[in-house]
Amino acid sequence: MSSMGSAPAVLVVEDDPTIGRNLQDGLRSHGYPTTWCRTGAAALLQARNASPAIVLLDLGLPDIDGVDLARVLRTENREMLLVILTARSEDIDVIAGLDAGADDYLVKPFSVTVLLARLRAHLRRQPPLEGDAQTIQLGALIVDQVGRRCLIDGREIQLRPKEFDLLAALATQPGAAVSREDLMSGVWDANWYGSTKTLDVTMAALRRRLTEETRQHEIPDTTMPTITTLRGHGYRLDSPQ
Ligand code: CA
Repeated sequence: MSSMGSAPAVLVVEDDPTIGRNLQDGLRSHGYPTTWCRTGAAALLQARNASPAIVLLDLGLPDIDGVDLARVLRTENREMLLVILTARSEDIDVIAGLDAGADDYLVKPFSVTVLLARLRAHLRRQPPLEGDAQTIQLGALIVDQVGRRCLIDGREIQLRPKEFDLLAALATQPGAAVSREDLMSGVWDANWYGSTKTLDVTMAALRRRLTEETRQHEIPDTTMPTITTLRGHGYRLDSPQ
């Protein structure tokens, strides 16, 4: 057993006995105090009683829909790291989970080694990609890096942490092409290896939130920055005219 006494507490929510036991054993052997619940109801009680720093949530539970549970857990605890575990690799399910408040997802089967690397990446605080934290105004959009707030036409809009970081990474250098690799290393992890699908999923969610907000409040497109996909390279955010 490791002696990392300060490792954050983990709640594993998984009805599959083999996966649940493997996760619990693997996390405990790396020093994470870990509790394992097999139903959504038990997990909800445990989360309320113990406020774990990390929740690993299987989407396919016997009693409660995992996406619904993710939403409740996130509503009750804004601070925890919520990672959904899914056998469903379709984007729609992943996006539903992320929209419900999850910070990340892993598609089964995955190794405990990969899980631990993901957790370490999330637990490290990332400095801003470029320069000092600042407030950036681009037309109707304001990105306040100090307060970590995003406002459109004076209204604050709710972004998940990685959506905010992604927007800030692009908004700090308007007009510049930013590569996928730079976004992955700056927003997610300096030692990122593997898939950049997380970037696409987060960008899709960010674009959807910005579009919803501008449509709902009839903000003219011409007052908003545009985010252009640069095929084979990355993204560029342009200031409005
Ligand atoms: Ca399951």
